[in-house]
Amino acid sequence: MSDIIVAVDGPAGSGKSSVSKEAARRLGYAYLDTGAAYRALAWHCLDEGVDLDDPAGVLERAQQWDYAIGMDPDRYFVRVGGEDITADIREPRVSAVVSAVARVPEVREVLTAMFRELADEHPAPGVIIEGRDITTVVAPHAQVRVLLTAAAEARMARRSAELSTESAEATAQQLAARDAQDSRVVDFMNAAEGVTTLDSTELDFEQTVQSLIDIVRSGA
Ligand code: C5P
Repeated sequence: MSDIIVAVDGPAGSGKSSVSKEAARRLGYAYLDTGAAYRALAWHCLDEGVDLDDPAGVLERAQQWDYAIGMDPDRYFVRVGGEDITADIREPRVSAVVSAVARVPEVREVLTAMFRELADEHPAPGVIIEGRDITTVVAPHAQVRVLLTAAAEARMARRSAELSTESAEATAQQLAARDAQDSRVVDFMNAAEGVTTLDSTELDFEQTVQSLIDIVRSGA
């Protein structure tokens, strides 16, 4: 892997993507958004008409697809089969089904191996890998491991501000449902041993980025 691995986990709406990306930019590190791969795989299955309740069919896609992600914080993109789907994977229809893809253990194994390879091959001096099971499964031996949390109300307010097309209430319900499904597969609400908790409930974006950078500088 890159010399320094920073593992960041957290629930939906904790701000981990935007915070990790900005911290990586300032540190001169690469940034790996792992949720994007689960989303892109769900999008790909929808696109190809693969039944999301058929784990074998989903696994087959995960083993064969042509996936690419930008790890430069200033050049973020997500592509499947050469098609740019950076915006498409954030659509509510994808968020609504992504947990079905993420709960298949064999799919998680394939994607975990891919994340390790991506981090390993990247020439940057460090990589911030962000997701749900990075501190525990993908990179449990990372030099820096952080759980980014925020109170449920703060997370829902942030997420509904991002998605202006939907009502805040619908957004809150979707987020809670996705967290409930996801937490059956991975525990991302409690810090594992040795993992530093960063609670952003009372912090603004800038303060959260600075706190993460401070943790990286003291731990790396
Ligand atoms: O982080 P984001 O909300 O984009 O993640 C989308 C989905 O991908 C999550 O709801 C979860 O089902 C899955 N995921 C996961 N493990 C990760 C990252 C994301 O299961 N490391």
